[in-house]
This record gives sequence, structure tokens and C-alpha cells, in this order.
Amino acid sequence: SFGIDRTNSMGINFANDDQLRALAEQVNQATRSDWRATPLVPGATVSGPSIAVTNPADRRETVGQWQAADAATVELALKNAVAAQDAWNTLPAASRATILEYAADLLEQRMPQYLALCTKEAGKTLPDGVAEVREAVDFLRYYGGQARKLFAVEALPGPTGESNTLQLSGRGVFVCISPWNFPLAIFAGQIAAALAAGNTVIAKPAEQTNLIGYYAVKLLHEAGVPEAVLQFLPGDGATVGAALTRDPRIAGVAFTGSTDTARAINRALAARDAAIGVLIAETGGQNALIADSSSLPEQVVKDAIGSAFTSAGQRCSAARVLFVQDDIADKVTSMLAGAMAELKVGDPGLLSTDVGPVIDEDALKMLVDHAARMDVEATRIGEVAIDADAAHGSFFAPRAYALKSLDQLHKEVFGPVLHVIRWKADQLDAVIDAINATGYGLTLGIHSRIDETIEKISARVKVGNCYVNRNQIGAVVGVQPFGGQNLSGTGPKAGGPHYLPRFTTEKTITVNT
Ligand code: GLU
Repeated sequence: SFGIDRTNSMGINFANDDQLRALAEQVNQATRSDWRATPLVPGATVSGPSIAVTNPADRRETVGQWQAADAATVELALKNAVAAQDAWNTLPAASRATILEYAADLLEQRMPQYLALCTKEAGKTLPDGVAEVREAVDFLRYYGGQARKLFAVEALPGPTGESNTLQLSGRGVFVCISPWNFPLAIFAGQIAAALAAGNTVIAKPAEQTNLIGYYAVKLLHEAGVPEAVLQFLPGDGATVGAALTRDPRIAGVAFTGSTDTARAINRALAARDAAIGVLIAETGGQNALIADSSSLPEQVVKDAIGSAFTSAGQRCSAARVLFVQDDIADKVTSMLAGAMAELKVGDPGLLSTDVGPVIDEDALKMLVDHAARMDVEATRIGEVAIDADAAHGSFFAPRAYALKSLDQLHKEVFGPVLHVIRWKADQLDAVIDAINATGYGLTLGIHSRIDETIEKISARVKVGNCYVNRNQIGAVVGVQPFGGQNLSGTGPKAGGPHYLPRFTTEKTITVNT
């Protein structure tokens, strides 16, 4: 199952000014102020107030409206999904794959529209938006291709006079609950895996990114996914999410978000008087980067900045703590402060911007509160100026703080804040122990030129994705399967060979011949 014949989606050359300007112009033309998301549930009458969606980079700008699903719409969606399940599940996997692959082609062709949505609704910079669309395209093709391969019925070896086959099929109705930080890629990835495996899907996006979710579902319908097979239910987690996850008609949930919400979903699934539901969860991290004295300070600084501040630090994979060996710590710290001063924070629609806004005022408040505590308990190393025009958006200047110990961080800080801790040569084991003791296990960066050190750290640390002498974000579908262990997720990894099988159920058929 590792050898699916496919290639990843092409990117654009950001060094080519003409190409970049042409793309920026297309994005401009695709930008609208009347985007609209409503529940997509056959037979539902949508009523209820329209809620304005505003641009996180400038809250004075309305980019669209959305309407939430009510309890009757949730119930209708469940009925529709159950009724549509058998026909979708018995369709040959190759037919489902063809639809997903066609959706990938459409998405690739319409990249400017989705880039415009990613910028205006989610505050993504152009490079982030391009990576987002490419990852969504890759997921659609990857799971489509994998379904073709996995669902081929193969005869198993056995005694003469008997035939044995193992057949896969979908589990039933899947609920996909996706995050605002990858509103297209993770949204489409969860849905693609569930659909490819023969499940019907009810998709509930994060409330902050309903528009992107809506237009992604419309595209999948256009590509040929029947409307009852993939339904879209925007709404708040407490009403729509909770009603879905406690319903006995659902077979499982694919979720990306906080560890606490994953636990609540797990409890809801377990409490039902129904078949035991499956939970596939990707949750938070407290990701470290360990740099020893053999590492190159320039490279450490470049990768720490890329890993901590890209996407305004709003990635589960982002580096939160740089453990730097004391011999090179002064050099790394002063270079870090210097490099941070060069970062441009501002309108994500501008090509010159490095760091866009954070998603909303709640996120901003959490960061401001954290910084206030750090200003008392830690030493500020670097900070970035914000363009004065940014006063109307949810902007937070990237910061770095020197800490004494990891205990000073109580939970994941989801934004552009890097914490730096020094260690001495005899403390490497203690550093690894402290990282493991957080209970999280998503990404780890290692910077070293000593093979034994790299081997020792990567063997001992309990994380899902370990990156050596490079940045620690931006896992590529089919190349770097992504996902954590322990508090960071249930595994298996998105974009890896073991993800799709979790969405399936297996049947062994033995015939006496
Ligand atoms: N897959 C993303 C990365 O490698 C992170 C996903 C997330 O933040 O949930 O950067």
C-alpha cells in the first residue's frame, strides 16, 4: 500500500515575479464580498439568521455570510446519510476514486478562488494558501488511489478445496469535524478518506471557516459525489457537533482539534447504545526543536523561525520550544532576534507579508495573556513590529522568550511564540525526558551533525514526526505521513498508508469449493 502510482500537486515558483504577480491578480479577481455558506442537506429548508464573516486582517471588511444548521436539519442529514449509505458503499472503489480524482483536478484548476477564500476567511498568506490547496489536491488523489488498491479483492493462500477472500467496505456514516487552521486541506483530507472507503459523510467545519468548507463541498458535488453522500452542516460545536457524535446512527468520527474535544467525542461515542464507534483524532502538540553545539546556528535560526512563525504559528506541528546547547546559545539567540526583526507582519494579501493575522479575537486574547505572563516570568529575546495599518485585524507580533524550564509552559500556545531553553552537554537525556513528560508527541526537530546524537534522540523521543536538520512543518501527503502519539492523537497518520483502513471494516469470506 506504500506504492500508489501518483505524483504530488505542482506548486508555483515563488521566485518568478511574473508568475507570482499573475497569480495575485487572479486571486484579486476571484475575491468577492458575497460568499455564502448554508447547510447542504437534501430536503432541508434553511432558515435562521445570517451571520457575517469578516476578514481577520481587517474586521471592517465583510467577506460573506453563513447560516447554521438547526436540530431538524441535523436529524434530516442523519436520515439522508443512512439512506444513501448502501448505494455508495457498493459502488466499486475505482468509481469512488475517479470522482475524488476529478475533484482534485477541478480544485487545481480553480486554485485562485480557493486562495482568495483562504486569505479572506482564514487570514492565510499566499504561500500558505498555495500549500493548502496543493495538500487538499494531494489528499483527494492519495486516498482515491489507495482505495483502488486496497479494495481489490485478493484470494488468500489456504488449503485446497477452499477459497478465502478478504473484502473491505465502508463502516457507515462518518462525521468529519475539521479545524480552521487547515480549512481546506484537513477538511478535504478527512472527507476524501471517508468517502474513498465507502462511507457517507456529514462534514462539520470549524465555525471560523464555514465559507471555505461550503465551497469545497460544492466542488465535490460537482465532481460527482451525490448530495446525500456528502452533506455539509455548519454550526457550533455544542449544538451540531455534539448532536452528531452522540447519535447511534454514526459509525465513526474523524476529528482534528483540541485534545479536550477529542476526549469529549470519545466519551460521547462510548456512551451510545450502539456499535462501538471509531475515533480518528489529530490533536495538539508541545513541539520541541533540539539543537546541539555541532549544529549550524544560521540553519537553526532559519528553521526555528520557519517552524515557529509560518502561518502565524497556527499549526499543530509548529515549533514551540527551542532547546539549544549552551555553547552556541548566545550566538543563536542574537541571530534569532536579528532575523525576527526582519519579519513583516501584516495583510496576508500582500506578497511582502511573512506573517498574517491570527484567526480571531479569542486567539489573540489567549496570546496577549500568555505574553503578559511571559513578560513577568521569562526574558524577551525578540519581537517583531506590526504595521500600523494592522490595528483593525487580529494581529499578534511573533515573539521569542528565554525560559528556564519547560515547566513554565502549562499548555500549548497556539500562535507565533517561540520559547528558548538552554541545556548543557550532560543534560541531553533530561531534555528528552522533559519533552516526553509533556505527554504530547507530535513533531520534533533535531539539529546536529553527530549521527549518534541524532539516532539517540530520534530513538528515545515519543513523537509522530521527527525532522532532522530542516524545519518541522509542512508534512507532504504520501511522503511524510503526519500525526502524533499520546495526547497528540490516536494515529494512524494522515497522508500515510494506514489511515484509509481505519475508515473500513473487513469481511473474510470462506467458501468450500
Ligand atoms: N500537517 C501540518 C504540518 O505538517 C499540520 C497540521 C495541523 O496543524 O493540524 O504542518
